[in-house]
Amino acid sequence: MTDTDEPSSGASAISVSRDRVVRFHYQIFDEAGAAVESTRDGEPLAILHGRGNVMRGIEDALESRKAGDRFEVTLPPEQAYGPRKDDFTQRISKKYFRQPARLKPGMTTQLSTEEGTRSVTVLKVGGKVVDVDMNHPLAGQTLKFDLEVMEVREATREEIAHRHVHGPGGHHH
Ligand code: ZN
Repeated sequence: MTDTDEPSSGASAISVSRDRVVRFHYQIFDEAGAAVESTRDGEPLAILHGRGNVMRGIEDALESRKAGDRFEVTLPPEQAYGPRKDDFTQRISKKYFRQPARLKPGMTTQLSTEEGTRSVTVLKVGGKVVDVDMNHPLAGQTLKFDLEVMEVREATREEIAHRHVHGPGGHHH
């Protein structure tokens, strides 16, 4: 017991809130229970909290958590990768793909768009164009996230100005 209002052990006591940095591991499970994405084999992801750097539902779930907290959150499609749209196909020039020669029907690949990269599914490969399903491969699915908070710290002034984290799990520049 202590008679002061000072936190006893600095950094370990702070919880996730807006403009703090949170580093966390996540694993995503699809509706069939298959692990589709994970940080467990490498660095945890680091985000500047409350700035839309991850899905809103994940930010909400992280709010007020502390280092060491491990929990699950289930997000419906609307809060994850959106509903699956029918006939959401587009014919796209091969130049927008990183490795067009390797494209095959059925595979998932990254497409560079004005809003950043997005995951799409290849339907048909032509000589100069590719037909893709623009739905995210996980669209229409309720996803389960296993989250573990590894660290919570104050952001630097520079990180807040840039609206992203610098260093491990964040931006390097
Ligand atoms: Zn920066």
